[in-house]
Amino acid sequence: MDTHGQAGGAGTAPTTHAVRLERLAEVAVKVGLGLRPGQELVITAPLETVSLVRAITEQAYKAGASLVTTFYSDDAATLARFAYAPEEAFDTAAGWLYSGMAEAYRNGAARLAVAGDDPSLLAGQDTARVSRANRARSQAYVPALELIANFSTNWTIVSAATTPWARTVFPDLPEDAAVSRLWDAIFSASRVDGPDPIAAWEAHNAALHARMGALNAHRFAALRFTGPGTDLTVGLADDHEWCGGASVSRSGITCNANIPTEEVFTTPHKDRVDGVVTSTKPLSYQGTLIDGIRVRFEAGRIVEAEARTGGAVLAKVLETDAGARQLGEVALVPASSAISASGLLFYNTLYDENAASHIALGQAYSKCFVNGGAEFSEADLVARGANRSLIHIDWMIGSAEIDVDGLTAEGRAIPVMRAGEWID
Ligand code: ZN
Ligand code: ZN
Repeated sequence: MDTHGQAGGAGTAPTTHAVRLERLAEVAVKVGLGLRPGQELVITAPLETVSLVRAITEQAYKAGASLVTTFYSDDAATLARFAYAPEEAFDTAAGWLYSGMAEAYRNGAARLAVAGDDPSLLAGQDTARVSRANRARSQAYVPALELIANFSTNWTIVSAATTPWARTVFPDLPEDAAVSRLWDAIFSASRVDGPDPIAAWEAHNAALHARMGALNAHRFAALRFTGPGTDLTVGLADDHEWCGGASVSRSGITCNANIPTEEVFTTPHKDRVDGVVTSTKPLSYQGTLIDGIRVRFEAGRIVEAEARTGGAVLAKVLETDAGARQLGEVALVPASSAISASGLLFYNTLYDENAASHIALGQAYSKCFVNGGAEFSEADLVARGANRSLIHIDWMIGSAEIDVDGLTAEGRAIPVMRAGEWID
């Protein structure tokens, strides 16, 4: 085993942090992005994740990247805005930046986001200001988000441990121990613990693809989720297809958009969702924790919504636009997934959504249609039930207490999951 130093004594040296960081960077570039020689890469990352960003940058250049450009965000700078910026400034967003990113993606640049934000950074701030800032950013982001959501280019999101995030996940541990435990969880969930992470990802992708194939073969008209506080029927979009694991961008590059990923997912029909559903994990949304969500859908739209905490932010989110009350994704994840088995609540959607079956409010992925949606115009997609919105917010509804049935066009129920586990 190559441990790159710190080998200590004889025998099998422990895999050091540095080695696992390098493996994570390699997985991000080779598996996450499938970066091609000559490609540009645009990275967005919190300032505190610079060690991973530097490792990724090195791997990207080794893979032949022509130019890596990183935009860092800084929690202290964000808080300074809320402390000192003039009231009228909260509708401002860096539209020029997102237009530039969109131009880069159109010209073939790959996109990598590092997630590691403080889950409650804006918890103490004025809700109206937070939602104005979020809305302005969402609107400015549209040109770039559209290209990402339809996989015009190859992209991925990976996580890195930061102190505020680690403190949230492990509130009882000293800071250093908390950060170290969070890194362990990230390395393990990202499958970089073993000696050959690339092979581990090939096997994982094959398993996810087999699951997708089985679901696609059923051509279910709807899924029904039942359990405590939940009886929800989610109609699936016409000509939908299940997605998961590695996928091919419209530019022909195979990438894994989320590291880690445990989900298979598809596009619901925006007008065919009915019933009640209760969240099974808190949702960490741009610095606010929304917990104990319970909503009722009628003909696809949320007609009643409440939350035990963060209800005011949830209400604002639902007012974002017409599509914010409708679904853009439904995803199945077994309750025994590696991330779920860790027993941790990560307060980070990339992790928590891969620990439980979930639905997403807002924008649908046009990729989850036959032939990757390539033959459908925007109007075709909407006609088949694809939702359109400025937001896409994943929200966990699965657990070991939830059953899932597939409903055929004739209304026959076929068990898909029992007590949160796949029926094979
Ligand atoms: Zn998802
Ligand atoms: Zn999602």
